Amino acid sequence: MFPRKPVLFCDFDGTITMNDNIIAAMKHFNPQGWDAIVQEIISETKSVKQGVGEMFALLPSSMKEEIKDYIITNAGIRDGFPELLAWCKAHDVPFYVTSGGIDFFVYPLLDPFGIPADHIYCNGSDFSGDQIRITWPHDCDEYCDNRGNCGMCKTAVIRRYSQDEYYRILIGDSVTDFPGAKIVDLVFSRSHLTDKCRELALPHIPFGTFHDVIRHIERGGIQS
Ligand SMILES: [Mg+2]
Ligand SMILES: [Zn+2]
Repeated sequence: MFPRKPVLFCDFDGTITMNDNIIAAMKHFNPQGWDAIVQEIISETKSVKQGVGEMFALLPSSMKEEIKDYIITNAGIRDGFPELLAWCKAHDVPFYVTSGGIDFFVYPLLDPFGIPADHIYCNGSDFSGDQIRITWPHDCDEYCDNRGNCGMCKTAVIRRYSQDEYYRILIGDSVTDFPGAKIVDLVFSRSHLTDKCRELALPHIPFGTFHDVIRHIERGGIQS
């Protein structure tokens, strides 16, 4: 199979869910100025941390339930996700959710799948003020090249699994996955992340559903 023990780090928005939930919520509730912030994040002229914080600050805390309900109703879980979790369990492969999303929608959406809470990393939220404030309980460590700009630092989580011992696999779709993609052994990619992997010649396999991921993992990754 793999040369070392595999460990999976899986993005949430646009990967486990069909939609990017933050973008979907912003489009729906349409607070003034959100789209310019997204463009800056995608073009990497603004950090994910700063941009996500700014976008949520455009929305009043009183809208918490409405936003949460909208996201939960519209997210959609990608095919094969429960099967991938079952496969990991059966093969004793650690599975971590590494999400740039926010706790108030990430935890409820993952609730049906029985993932241990300490295997889910995401950002936090504070609704005590007038506007929504995002908090960053898993900020960058001292080794992150992106120092202090990730928000939820995926590379800090990945680094806890040494490359000597583990074959590190990242599954993702977009800008929050770029730093992690550079330090893992294999990437399962969609969308912007596929373009980035091509550009940087990183070992990657584009995928559609988690059934594809299972099939490739069972074969041991990239086939020549
Ligand atoms: Mg994503
Ligand atoms: Zn970082």
